[in-house]
Amino acid sequence: MVGEVTAKVVGDVAKETAKETAKEVGKYAGKQTVDITKRLDVSAKAIESKAAGVDITKRIKPEKIGIEDTAKEYIADLKAKSVFSETISNSLDVSKLEKRTPEDNAKMREEFDKKKSNLRSEWEKLNNKEWPRYTEPVYNERGIMIRKAGDCLDAHHVQPLELGGKNEASNITPLDLNKHKDIHSKTGSCTKLVEKVVGGQ
Ligand SMILES: [Zn+2]
Repeated sequence: MVGEVTAKVVGDVAKETAKETAKEVGKYAGKQTVDITKRLDVSAKAIESKAAGVDITKRIKPEKIGIEDTAKEYIADLKAKSVFSETISNSLDVSKLEKRTPEDNAKMREEFDKKKSNLRSEWEKLNNKEWPRYTEPVYNERGIMIRKAGDCLDAHHVQPLELGGKNEASNITPLDLNKHKDIHSKTGSCTKLVEKVVGGQ
């Protein structure tokens, strides 16, 4: 009697254990299958695109297309607005344009504020010109004077700070406040360039 009961219990435990094991194996096997499928899918796509002559690892994002044109438009606009267009290089090396993080950008702004007057002096030596000054005061929309006659014209970064530009004399150019505002406005040429580069990254 006792032997029979023991045998039954052992048999039941064995059955339960087998069921649990089967469940575990099933779960594991299911997971593996999904992973393998995913991997196969990616590999298949890579093979497909290689066959089509496209290396997906080097694929240029669609937003990046046309960046050269946007950069050209920006430089042309900047030259048109500049007092000394001849001091601005004819082209911008688009390969050097890369988005700075907001933190790095803030650091560069801070550095610029400290170095501004030194950079203007360096710019003067570099270009053998005097940094231009406002001949008349400039007022904002509310009639408040924001620039005095005799103040230095604004400094604009040719390669924008947010796109990896440096605080160097060769990267700044004098711009009249209103033209400077215009170039950075929503539809301004500098804003468009920033959007183009940032959008493509
Ligand atoms: Zn600027």
